[in-house]
Amino acid sequence: SGSSKGAAMVTAVAQRVTARRHQSLSSFRLSRDQLRSVKARMRAGLEAGLKSNSHSPVKMLPSYVFRTPDGTECGKYLALDLGGTNFRVLLVKIRSGLRRSVRLYNKLYPIPLEIMQGTGEELFDHIVHCISDFLDYVGMKKARLPLGFTFSFPCLQAAINVGTLVSWTKGFKATDCEGNDVVDMLREAIKRRNEFDVDIVAIVNDTVGTMMSCAYEDPQCEIGLIAGTGSNVCYMEELRNIEKNGLGEMQRMCINTEWGGLGEDGCLDDIITEYDNAVDRESINHGRQRFEKLTSGLYLGEVVRQVLLDLTRRGLLFKGRVTEALKTPGIFETKYLSQIESDRLALLQVRSILQHLGLDSTCDDSIIVKEVCGAVSRRAAQLCGAGMAAVVDKIRENRGLDQLNITVGVDGTLYKLHPHFSTVLQETVVALAPQCYVTYLLSEEGSGRGAALITAVARRDQVEM
Ligand code: BGC
Ligand code: MG
Repeated sequence: SGSSKGAAMVTAVAQRVTARRHQSLSSFRLSRDQLRSVKARMRAGLEAGLKSNSHSPVKMLPSYVFRTPDGTECGKYLALDLGGTNFRVLLVKIRSGLRRSVRLYNKLYPIPLEIMQGTGEELFDHIVHCISDFLDYVGMKKARLPLGFTFSFPCLQAAINVGTLVSWTKGFKATDCEGNDVVDMLREAIKRRNEFDVDIVAIVNDTVGTMMSCAYEDPQCEIGLIAGTGSNVCYMEELRNIEKNGLGEMQRMCINTEWGGLGEDGCLDDIITEYDNAVDRESINHGRQRFEKLTSGLYLGEVVRQVLLDLTRRGLLFKGRVTEALKTPGIFETKYLSQIESDRLALLQVRSILQHLGLDSTCDDSIIVKEVCGAVSRRAAQLCGAGMAAVVDKIRENRGLDQLNITVGVDGTLYKLHPHFSTVLQETVVALAPQCYVTYLLSEEGSGRGAALITAVARRDQVEM
């Protein structure tokens, strides 16, 4: 009859729409073999970066941190944390012995976009202004405190307190900083203000700070992972493998891999989608940090937005209406992705989040948006897992072991807030590195505590040397 023919046509149309949508999402699906191959490419990147004079996309930067803390560290330290979701200044008090503990006081200082992307001098003046405010706040303007600077960008270090900024990443783009020594820039800004003095002892990547702060609790922690605004890993490497260095007497050094750079040479092009390319084109560091752009919080929401834009333009979503909201970069922050993907959330609540972002949705739309978020974040977690599998297997082989037990210290909003990211990452590591037994330890205040612990270790080792 006519009506059943009509119903069949509706079903056929619905099926075609679903098929087209699935086609868009299937480009985010990675097979076990593809993930194994990403692991192999990461491994090759790690090896290439360790070679001297290499310009490997995976930079493998020496940190001049030679050991993890042993609990005998103590003292009062100032710490700065720049390059994550927020800028913070911290006062960290470390006690050793039976009452060993780390206590901290901190204050958050938002960095306005015009300062992140203004001149270097303005950026460092702003940082020093915040330190000054903080020292007033804790009443320690007169003390000359040792300072550890967690600076979460690639820095080529020649010592624990000397580091040239290789290139800005994430949302930062202040002028006249790349190629300059970060400690010098901070020291000069402190001089310009001429209000207080500090002793800048260490410059620290956030991965290294995270590893150190977790190692304070668990000595098996020899890897640091950040899955947040940016994506990166550090781990303890054998000095004999570090051609970049002439330090004979120590055994290991922590290497900041800067794994986010993988793919800058095109080695990930087969898994990169048109949506990823759109995100890359619109970013402030076009062509750079390709792995980071597949795996970290600053970009995942943008990948989602590109897919939604495409589905909408093809009439498969939002009634085919491309609204201003949908055209706004950055609307899908990590916290919204996390909420949308939460299993506890009813579709009606997903719709209200979309509404809050300025997107009018039907029930079907909200199902689609959730599917898109799921596909993008799952791929991100799997890729991080493949990268981690490469790192743990390298450490296992370094040490000639059949089985490695190791702990990873982890920080970052994506890992901590997203409902599935950590599980998928861990499952991928189990599948791709079956000879490694990996424990994950969430870091608390890793950047601040870690910077203080590194400062403590560095000062003591200086005295003892
Ligand atoms: C930076 C790394 C940092 C990571 C996580 C990346 O963009 O290049 O140095 O560790 O973000 O904050
Ligand atoms: Mg951080």
